[in-house]
Amino acid sequence: MPTPPHAIGFTLDPLDRVSEKRDDESFVAGLRDDPSTRFLLFVNNVPLFKRTRGHDPLFSAQEAATLGAPMQSVFLGRDAQGRALFASSFDTGAESLPEESAIEAIELRPIAMQGLVPPPMVSALGEARSMLDWHRRHRFCANCGQPTDSAGAGWRRICANCKAQHFPRVDPVVIMLVTDGERCLLGRQPQFLPGMYSALAGFVEPGETFEHAVIREVLEEAGIRCTDVRYYASQPWPFPSSLMIGCFARAAGTDIVVDEKELEDARWFTRKEVGAMLDGTHEQGLSAPKPFAIAHHLLKAFATGELD
Ligand SMILES: [Zn+2]
Repeated sequence: MPTPPHAIGFTLDPLDRVSEKRDDESFVAGLRDDPSTRFLLFVNNVPLFKRTRGHDPLFSAQEAATLGAPMQSVFLGRDAQGRALFASSFDTGAESLPEESAIEAIELRPIAMQGLVPPPMVSALGEARSMLDWHRRHRFCANCGQPTDSAGAGWRRICANCKAQHFPRVDPVVIMLVTDGERCLLGRQPQFLPGMYSALAGFVEPGETFEHAVIREVLEEAGIRCTDVRYYASQPWPFPSSLMIGCFARAAGTDIVVDEKELEDARWFTRKEVGAMLDGTHEQGLSAPKPFAIAHHLLKAFATGELD
């Protein structure tokens, strides 16, 4: 099995999350007040950047205070320098930023795709985005419908009415490259960029192992039975809270039946074609996902023969 590279986006975790101290309120308050502490700021799930030197997402407490009181705050952890990082969300729009300010709101996806901040910071921004989005969408108790309050430095919500505790969610998604030896199966979702093909993917359902989910999804989407499912690597995908579980599998047949509700097209591609799609030299201009997505690395391991 090939070794997963570090280039997969959102996988280089830079933070010591100090999770055992989240309920120690004086510890967390002490970090919040420490002058070395930095804040990642989000407005409606979009991170803010200081544009004085490149794209700098680290704000001091004083700089963060100019946006007013945050709607939600989460202690993310300590970085390699020992500084504490918090994530804070605001409901003011980017339009409320001072006209002359050198602060810009830029969606995380292009930031990650274009490598505008170092990989460890991409991971911290991903953690922050998933956590803040979870708070935005879980303000009410799923058990009794009453409002909930943040606790544990932002890592759970508690219902004062029924005492239920709610924890941030992670949604597992399998993404699999199915091969028949010399060719691999790729599909196109209607919302993909024109000409782009990728590995098939789908959510793991309750009661399934990820191996079962791979077999079910490939049969549903492309009518191909597969076996020999092998785990490769995983990737947090903070849009909003998926965990991509990258796998390889072997096809037991080759006759494709496309599920047109899910896919626009699915077909077999040779190693040579996949190599050209990754390099951007495919004769018909077909392309594959970029290196920050785990799909790229599944395809690359196949194209280079690393998988054999
Ligand atoms: Zn409740």
